Amino acid sequence: MIALPGLLDGLRAAVPHQIKEYYWAAQGIYTNPWFWVFTGAILVFEKLLPADKKQRVFSWGLLQDFMWFNADAMLKVALLPAFAGAVKIFYDWVTGDFQLEGSSGWPLWVKIVAAVVVFDFLQWFHHWARHKVKAFWHFHAVHHSAREMNVFTDLRVHAAEYMIAEVLVFVPMFALGLPALAIMGVGSVRWWYTRFIHANIRTNMGPLKHVLVTPQFHRVHHSIEPQHQDKNFGVVFSVWDRMFGTMHPDYDEYPETGVAGFASEPPHRISPVAWAREYARLFAHPFRELVRRRPAVVTAREPDHGPIPVAPPPLAPAAPPAASRGPVAPTGLA
Ligand SMILES: [Zn+2]
Ligand SMILES: [Zn+2]
Repeated sequence: MIALPGLLDGLRAAVPHQIKEYYWAAQGIYTNPWFWVFTGAILVFEKLLPADKKQRVFSWGLLQDFMWFNADAMLKVALLPAFAGAVKIFYDWVTGDFQLEGSSGWPLWVKIVAAVVVFDFLQWFHHWARHKVKAFWHFHAVHHSAREMNVFTDLRVHAAEYMIAEVLVFVPMFALGLPALAIMGVGSVRWWYTRFIHANIRTNMGPLKHVLVTPQFHRVHHSIEPQHQDKNFGVVFSVWDRMFGTMHPDYDEYPETGVAGFASEPPHRISPVAWAREYARLFAHPFRELVRRRPAVVTAREPDHGPIPVAPPPLAPAAPPAASRGPVAPTGLA
């Protein structure tokens, strides 16, 4: 029998070095003075140019998302390298370590441009999928439950969502055989940039909004209002939403944020128990939803429908075939 530490070491050993470097970069975040300078600058901009003027810079929502930031850092250090290793092992087993023919001979700048474009498109795609696939949405709803957007809201992400994202993003990365520099470069740009676009800052960045995702653009994505639902999925570039028709055209709206029917109020007092309970409640939310919304197997027995009617004997002429009764209601993912 293989001991657990040995198994974890084996998984870590299987992780490609570029993935390890990618996560070592994440581990270094607490000790990177530029990260804290950057965070401080964002807080100053939130004070000077708030999107929501009622929101205080040092709000309970900021404290709540700071807790998620810390949980995220622990997750990246403890769990994700092993998980990425498992994905890589599975990928090699299924595809025989398949790599796109010819990509190894590309010049570095071509690989970097390809990494930027492919990575950002995949971010757009898996964000779209997390909204459109009901089972994924229950996990992503935790991110959207923030009523007060701030620099740490980017990291209010359920652990299971990381797993989904890793598979969707890294498998194509393996296929492209992208170099460490490209993956790390694109990854770190994303980390810094997405903190900026979650901040409570009133800016659409002028002409840059036609190319880049802005705090205004992403605030609309987090909007609680029905007309903004499933819009603006982009992470760094706004071009994908324009291309696929998912962009909200107004660049001057700064709506209220949150998820209708899913209240997430941080406790407005210092109480470790209350904060831990709220964290656990959000963490459990998707699992509760998955169980609660599991489709009923025998809908005819729902109490509202009353007793199951006994079918009368058929009368001539016979009922038309199913195909002529109009379209069948879709049962897929909504
Ligand atoms: Zn979203
Ligand atoms: Zn977001």
